[in-house]
Amino acid sequence: MTPITKEAIRALPKIELHIHLEGTFSKEYVCQLAEKLDVPLPHDKEHLFSFTCLAEFLEMLDWNCSLIRNAADAEQLAYHFAEYAKEQGIVYAEVILNPTHWKNISLDVLVPSVLAGFDRAAQDGLPDCRLMVSLLRTQSTKTAAETVDWLTAHPHSRLIGLSVDGNEEAAESNERFSPLFAKAKENGLHLTAHAGESSGPEGVWEALQLLQAERIDHGVRAMDDERLLEYLKDNHIALNVCFTSNILCNIFTEENHPLKALFDYGVPVTASTDDPHILVDTMCYELEHIASLYGWGMEELIRLQYNAVEACFCPKEKKEMLRKKIEEFESRC
Ligand SMILES: [Zn+2]
Repeated sequence: MTPITKEAIRALPKIELHIHLEGTFSKEYVCQLAEKLDVPLPHDKEHLFSFTCLAEFLEMLDWNCSLIRNAADAEQLAYHFAEYAKEQGIVYAEVILNPTHWKNISLDVLVPSVLAGFDRAAQDGLPDCRLMVSLLRTQSTKTAAETVDWLTAHPHSRLIGLSVDGNEEAAESNERFSPLFAKAKENGLHLTAHAGESSGPEGVWEALQLLQAERIDHGVRAMDDERLLEYLKDNHIALNVCFTSNILCNIFTEENHPLKALFDYGVPVTASTDDPHILVDTMCYELEHIASLYGWGMEELIRLQYNAVEACFCPKEKKEMLRKKIEEFESRC
């Protein structure tokens, strides 16, 4: 097997399934937008993405998103993401967008523009990117229902799923949003949910049972429930784990993070980056870091990509193409 090097990790065809568009603003693009709009930066460029707590982190995300005020800039942000994906050797990505963060642009303009940006990127030979729209756990049922109504009325081949994120302590959202997830499913959308990050294994159970989630974003607290681990393994339900994000958000330390234990148990885990630019993380860095920490070789990193192929929401033929790309890479290792 090829040894782990930066070049080998870059060359590995990678799949990103847990990434928020809100976390893909580069400092350069933020500065460019702020200058164009004549909005002062909250910190100097070097410290633009500094934060000391979750509240500050969310405030910064919202501030970045507030700079997107028209279709062209939203389209460009999506295109920039596809460029980043190419640079990282990502061959396919499913990106989460939560409309509640975007105060200065309506859903009606934002989503079609992002989809147009992904379309243009694909035409230019950049990686295939799809979109999942997310509800916020603390938003009202009424506004969440309006979002789902909009999504189901505007089908698009790149609009593939409904998600939910935000404060997992708002566990009652599972029950409130259950009919909305059911409606999305009836209309052909796939379902994913953030759970088992700050909530315990019960958060994962509820996402599976009340929201019918097909896979879980984070889900790392499943480690505390053997029955749940068995269930995830037997039913091939993937956990999209974001190692660096969990460390930076004080969910786990590097020493007690359960990624390796989940992997060894046979739960289908994938490696994702959550909010790459804001967390100063990239897909290549994430894999390099995990491999060096766990003493993993290319074999384990390839396994993570196969897990992601199984878990992704694209059509069967596309999945087959992705699997072939990884097999070809593997045969050269
Ligand atoms: Zn996330």
